[in-house]
Amino acid sequence: MANVQLEEITRQFENVLAIENITFEVPDGQFWVLVGPSGCGKSTILRTIAGLESVSNGNLYIGDVLVNHVPARQRDVAMVFQNYALYPHMTVAENLSFGLRMRKADKATIERQVEKVARSLDIFHLLDRKPKQLSGGQQQRVALGRAIAREPKVFLLDEPLSNLDAQLRDDTRVQLKQLHQQLGITTIYVTHDQVEAMTLADQIVVLDRGRIQQIGEPQAIYAKPANRMVAMFLGNPPMNVFRTIYTGEGFQVGGQFLPCPSELQIRLPLVPAQTVDLGIRPEYVEFTNPKGTEDAESRGELRMEVSVVEPLGRETLVRGCLPESEVLLDVVAPSDWRGHPGDRIGIQFDLNQLFAFDPTTGDALYP
Ligand code: ADP
Ligand code: MG
Repeated sequence: MANVQLEEITRQFENVLAIENITFEVPDGQFWVLVGPSGCGKSTILRTIAGLESVSNGNLYIGDVLVNHVPARQRDVAMVFQNYALYPHMTVAENLSFGLRMRKADKATIERQVEKVARSLDIFHLLDRKPKQLSGGQQQRVALGRAIAREPKVFLLDEPLSNLDAQLRDDTRVQLKQLHQQLGITTIYVTHDQVEAMTLADQIVVLDRGRIQQIGEPQAIYAKPANRMVAMFLGNPPMNVFRTIYTGEGFQVGGQFLPCPSELQIRLPLVPAQTVDLGIRPEYVEFTNPKGTEDAESRGELRMEVSVVEPLGRETLVRGCLPESEVLLDVVAPSDWRGHPGDRIGIQFDLNQLFAFDPTTGDALYP
């Protein structure tokens, strides 16, 4: 096993700067997730670590050895892609043991390792089957098992669950986490799915347009995003972010007034007429009385017009806007909430949960 260190790695393709100045170090045995929208450079980073992509600039170390010019097959890393490829003529057991057999492991080791991995991934009952006798989800678990069974120094996964249906994706995600807890192999996992990132990672690396936006523990990033992009990327439904104008006492937003929490006023040197982007997570917006009144404004309430109601079982997601404005809002309401598209109702923000961002750079200003 090994740590993986990237030092100012840059990769340029012709006129595309795919990744720029990527620096981070995954300590031995940890599970890190690279997350970001499509095209942000996740696969390029992973392929660089695997040795499938050369670096234009920077240094890459695996287990403290500089591997910039070490060919892929000598790096002792295993990689699994979204599209699994198994050896069709081999059974599941033979697929799982392939890497170990290539390395001339002894029979007892092979058997023990195949059983452990197959049980963890819930494919033990399939060991005698051929790939074409398996469902897509089973095949992908065999592919994961095959890559991890030989216990590589580093395990690299590029969106390995994206082709699975929702239930299977959840199950396999949990199995992967358990397998990592058992084997402790340094793992770098790429996904565009923020749920996978939040649930799997020891540390998350958020990427956008080829650059690192933030590195941290899932809860820390969620609680204190470094900028607007990170704030809106982690969390489902995403954080509500809207442009406001500071008035001296509070904020003008979509023609309504939002009071400024005193702590924000103290911490941020805002000047009247300054624009600022505010953010609030949908779980911190609450419906108040059924009809917003004039009086409500003095209590710090806003009025919202409901456009879509989505009951999710445990809770209800309500989408809408501030009336006669372009300010969109998502609200997570209790499951017994009853409302309809077209309703205009009072809402209140938990002002302790307000975020502020620089409207130009997107950098977090508060908290
Ligand atoms: P992600 O995996 O996050 O979706 P990629 O790492 O695949 O992103 O791609 C990052 C950027 O690099 C994209 O703009 C992509 O078009 C570009 N890119 C990736 N591979 C190549 C290549 N072989 N040639 C040219 N451009 C590439
Ligand atoms: Mg990709």
